[in-house]
Amino acid sequence: MSVVVLSDVHANIQALDAVLDDVARVAPHAPIWHCGDVVGYGASPNEVIAALRRVGATGVMGNHDLAALGDDIVESFNEGAHAAALWTREALTAESREWLRSLPRVAEMGSATLVHASLRDPILEYVMDATTAEENLRRLSTPILFHGHTHIPALWELQREVAHLTAVDADPIALRGPSLVNVGSVGQPRDRDPRAAWLLWERDEEHAGLGRVTWRRVEYDIPSAQEAIDAAGLPDSLASRLAVGR
Ligand code: ZN
Repeated sequence: MSVVVLSDVHANIQALDAVLDDVARVAPHAPIWHCGDVVGYGASPNEVIAALRRVGATGVMGNHDLAALGDDIVESFNEGAHAAALWTREALTAESREWLRSLPRVAEMGSATLVHASLRDPILEYVMDATTAEENLRRLSTPILFHGHTHIPALWELQREVAHLTAVDADPIALRGPSLVNVGSVGQPRDRDPRAAWLLWERDEEHAGLGRVTWRRVEYDIPSAQEAIDAAGLPDSLASRLAVGR
């Protein structure tokens, strides 16, 4: 059975719509999971939440979701992220706020766990190096951890007790053991590829629930997402970075 995993949509409805169209073609009956940062940066927080609710997405809380709900975490944000968080607080409807507030920080889903950042710190820790990856891999209580936060697709696997970074491209990758699977970002990719990212997990219950993962990249209407950011009065940098994917 297949599962769709998304992360870091960041209120970009143009990117999410394109991803959901691709999902409808590739995995029309798969459940949809998300790893948080549903809102923040982009101009369409309520539209994104409505779309995720419509497809019955299940997921967790990110640092930008927490900031949009009024948490002090916003004080640690850089200028653009801070401005966007304050804008999002005002833009959210009561219904959207209630949905965001209901998101847990960790969700165990059979042989996989969902968090936004890392298992050790589900809200804030960036997994960018082998030491951090290894410490998180050792804490896993399920074979797979799906996460986001860095906006960069990545696969860290524990091989002979050492964290190993496996190169990620468009080909399916068979998981062999404990794995941290960073699904990349729908709404603000930062790996110099501006296309929206999502992940297809083809689960294999006979092999410890591991199976294989495929990262998909989808073109979307970037100019419209940029225009919406400009029209909302959000910082220009949040619009311009979408075109370069960083
Ligand atoms: Zn994010």
